[in-house]
Amino acid sequence: MKPNPQTEELSYSTSQKQLDEAAAIIKLDPVAYELLRRPMRELHVTLAVKMDNGSTKIFQGFRVQHNNARGPNKGGIRFHPNETIDTIRALASWMTWKTSVMDIPLGGAKGGVICDPKTLSPGELERLSRAYIRQTASFLGTEKDIPAPDVYTTPQIMAWMADEYSIMQGNNKFGVITGKPLALGGSAGRSDATARGGIYCIREAALTLGINLTESRAAIQGYGNAGSYAHKLAVELLGLKVIAVSDSKGCIYHPEGLSYEKVMAHKKKTGSVAGFPSAIAISDKELLELDVAVLFPAALDSVITDANAMNIKAKIIAELANGPTTPEADTVLYNNGVYIIPDLLCNAGGVTVSYFEMVQNAYGYYWSEDEVQERLEKKMKTAFFAVEQKARSYNVHNRLAAYIVAVERVADAMKLRGWY
Ligand code: GLU
Repeated sequence: MKPNPQTEELSYSTSQKQLDEAAAIIKLDPVAYELLRRPMRELHVTLAVKMDNGSTKIFQGFRVQHNNARGPNKGGIRFHPNETIDTIRALASWMTWKTSVMDIPLGGAKGGVICDPKTLSPGELERLSRAYIRQTASFLGTEKDIPAPDVYTTPQIMAWMADEYSIMQGNNKFGVITGKPLALGGSAGRSDATARGGIYCIREAALTLGINLTESRAAIQGYGNAGSYAHKLAVELLGLKVIAVSDSKGCIYHPEGLSYEKVMAHKKKTGSVAGFPSAIAISDKELLELDVAVLFPAALDSVITDANAMNIKAKIIAELANGPTTPEADTVLYNNGVYIIPDLLCNAGGVTVSYFEMVQNAYGYYWSEDEVQERLEKKMKTAFFAVEQKARSYNVHNRLAAYIVAVERVADAMKLRGWY
């Protein structure tokens, strides 16, 4: 698959426009602004991987460290055929803002490899994952930069990566990566944390807006880790009826609601939600424009743009994906009264429990799932109200409010450190 030049352009320019807007409102110091507008460090790597048929294939990978003023760089690694350095730059900056909105002592980074993991065997995937770590290891470390899962990377991939790094160091250094399996120092509650954090935000948003969500409709774009757990928890914790879900192979719709267990079983068997018995196949465009209380974009960036924003009927958009909405679409949605829970807040449950995982690894002392969830809920609520309060005091939409919270904190840290 060829890179999509439009998406490359869009995610990076989106992230820059978002910062520009916040910087103008808070009258950010010009030097601080210059520092924050670009990544502090970038690593481009070339990976030679032995394939099952005996050939060697070359892959290109990246690790971008956006800013570490508030703590070590943190952020996931994506394996995607359309990966580009521009997308990774945008995503790395979003991690800086996300850790800052959550007020966890970390900075922002992101990594990626241009590959299609669906076409790789488990052995090839393992050798690719280990090669990535060998080439980036000098950039990484529990006090430097701590990767995690992201699009198409899994706890098993994190396990191979933690192992490779530990072998290179000569002792176990599991804390170098988060999102690991429980048996290797993973945290209880990490697997559903991204979706769970978003669900806690929706609960607060519904209270703020005076909306009753029980039996209301929801639609979910994307059925990876975030999207599938959002389906489960939207039903369990909010009583929502999920009437449509999608993945890269198709979208399904059922007006009476879809069962998480049944859709998941179908996806496990066939590899996709598409073709789910009794559901109607609809297009991705139709899914995004359904008349629902909550719309979850939980796949990739730049899916709500000026081309479709005016057709969105959802009352709340819960951004579990990174960067799903462009700045032009933000304006349209805000004017139409759509309440956006921005990605920096909505999907920050993942990195927050990653931070809990780092703390547990450092102490060698592990918490129960209940303890993790309780701490996560507290963190999500605090961040939600920090953003709400900024939105009110500056009379701006939630994304801009989240940026203001985040940029002020990072700028303060840089100032204290004497960077400007
Ligand atoms: N990839 C996730 C994100 O975009 C999690 C990052 C992490 O846990 O470090 O927030």
